[in-house]
Amino acid sequence: MSESDTTPTALRTPIVAVLGHVDHGKTSLLDTIRGSAVSEGEAGAITQHIGATAVPLETISDMAGSLVDPEDFDLPGLLFIDTPGHHSFSTLRSRGGALADIAIVVVDVNDGFQPQTVEAIEILKRTGTPFVVAANKIDTTPGWNPQEGAPIQQTYEAQSSRARSMLDENLYEIIGDLSDNGFSADLYWRVQNFQKNVGVVPSSAMTSEGIPDLLAVLMGLSQRYMKEEMQIDVTGPGAGTVLEVKEERGFGTTLDVVLYDGSIKEGETIVVGGKNDPIVTEVRALLRPRPNAEIRTEKRFERVDEVTAASGVKIAAPDLEDAMAGAPVRVVRDRPVDEVIAEVKRELAEIEVETAEEGVVVKADTLGSLEAMANALDEAEVPILRAEVGDVAPRDVAVASTANEEKHKVILAFNVSVLKNAQEELDKAGVKLFDDDVIYQLVEEYEAYVDEMQRAQQENVLDKIIRPCRFRVLEDHVFRQSNPAVVGVEVMSGTLKNNQYVVKWEGNEPTRVGQLNGIQEQGEDVSEARAGKRVSVAIDGPTVGRQIDEGDELWIMLPEKHAKILEQELSSDIPADELEALQSYLDKHRRRDPFWGK
Ligand code: GDP
Repeated sequence: MSESDTTPTALRTPIVAVLGHVDHGKTSLLDTIRGSAVSEGEAGAITQHIGATAVPLETISDMAGSLVDPEDFDLPGLLFIDTPGHHSFSTLRSRGGALADIAIVVVDVNDGFQPQTVEAIEILKRTGTPFVVAANKIDTTPGWNPQEGAPIQQTYEAQSSRARSMLDENLYEIIGDLSDNGFSADLYWRVQNFQKNVGVVPSSAMTSEGIPDLLAVLMGLSQRYMKEEMQIDVTGPGAGTVLEVKEERGFGTTLDVVLYDGSIKEGETIVVGGKNDPIVTEVRALLRPRPNAEIRTEKRFERVDEVTAASGVKIAAPDLEDAMAGAPVRVVRDRPVDEVIAEVKRELAEIEVETAEEGVVVKADTLGSLEAMANALDEAEVPILRAEVGDVAPRDVAVASTANEEKHKVILAFNVSVLKNAQEELDKAGVKLFDDDVIYQLVEEYEAYVDEMQRAQQENVLDKIIRPCRFRVLEDHVFRQSNPAVVGVEVMSGTLKNNQYVVKWEGNEPTRVGQLNGIQEQGEDVSEARAGKRVSVAIDGPTVGRQIDEGDELWIMLPEKHAKILEQELSSDIPADELEALQSYLDKHRRRDPFWGK
């Protein structure tokens, strides 16, 4: 970052983000690139920014050896965002698009595509961000013969044919998965046109094998396809995105910002997207990490007068408490401040989430992730009552508890904390909290909860409803004639339950013969008996030999309304034999009255 640069236009450094599934090696890969940059170049060749690391072209060329000839390039190098993960990727937006110009999707060669890999690819597709795939951990291929820091072709030649073919198999699997996700891909050295095809670069963060290739591909891609976009006016008013809002001892609330256009100077007026209105404030200090930083916060940073894109910088200024991660930052410089406020508002409006009168409460750590959550919920047809950036606070619980439907009395929290007093409110208000740091998992957990809730509700209805049952009085099993009649029965279909009314069909007419007043199975009182069981029952009302007789077929009496609910709403929730009993019962009634139970 040439603070002394005087040419108004220059090519800025492309911004690189690293994405991929957890544990596939994102952090390690970044560390390896940074580490080898430090050991290759003289100290200071790489610049530590706030939230990002700049690796200059010279260092890249040293690391990549013959794969990168600095003569072929005029871009100044690459700026790697330090926090890997698609989460921070979606945070980093610029003027409606992705802030990162290019991305590395890290895939463990043995593990292949995993849920977060797919999620990362979807985000890249949506934002139209070019990417390469680092097929990482090639050193774990059985029988691997590591060639520390070597380009991939050279490593390949040193492997046994068995190791090579095992790696190939895994690589083709990844290429297949990319194709399943809508990207035609190939091993990077076979790709002719990187705008049409995704290049796969075998790599190892452990042995640095393939790292030269990865850097060469990133550099080549940027140079070939992004040169135009990298042309910026370095003296223009700065434009950037808030990466994080952070409390720093000695500085108060500060913003970690990635500047992607123009420059910013100490003392300048800036406009920042806030939770309510845009914040207009003055830059008190611009901070960079101090090399060999001391532990004491005040000494961790050094002040700079001016910063030029692309750059990561910490801004200390008053009134930043309401600033939001993911929000735009603009330097006003020589423009009417209202114009800049309007610009920030326009940009925020683009990210605004559509809310409804009824729905769930969503909290996320950044505007970008809030938007991604809203998209995912929209796809799942879940309405949103309120969506905000920030930790879960008591106020959110209060809002969630106003939802009409039980299933909407929830808070979906993505990558945020729950304030202690909010935690206490949750139980009191009967609001359920879901939190996760993978969006699709969060949505899935919520959907599973709604399914379970609906199932429980149906079960509840089923509990309250009288259920059909057909049973038969057994021959030679009359234990008592009447008051009550006690007879042995066999349950033919459905479940016999105590206290229900009993009917018998005489021709087309159902006659109520009495009420069940006890069921015994092998001498023990039971509350019910399933189909197939033989039990003795006590029936208040009839006398055996008059209203009922040995061999009679009897039914539990179904109220018409219950029969209707069972047939129309619950028929898929009851067992087959019970459904059979229901059908026969309805048929009998409908012979007399075709509209019975309809
Ligand atoms: P992240 O969650 O994607 O950032 O993954 P990490 O970088 O934290 O790596 C997860 C684990 O995989 C760590 O134990 C790393 O040491 C290991 N790992 C990462 N890259 C490689 C690699 O290329 N080879 C081997 N053998 N292990 C690796």
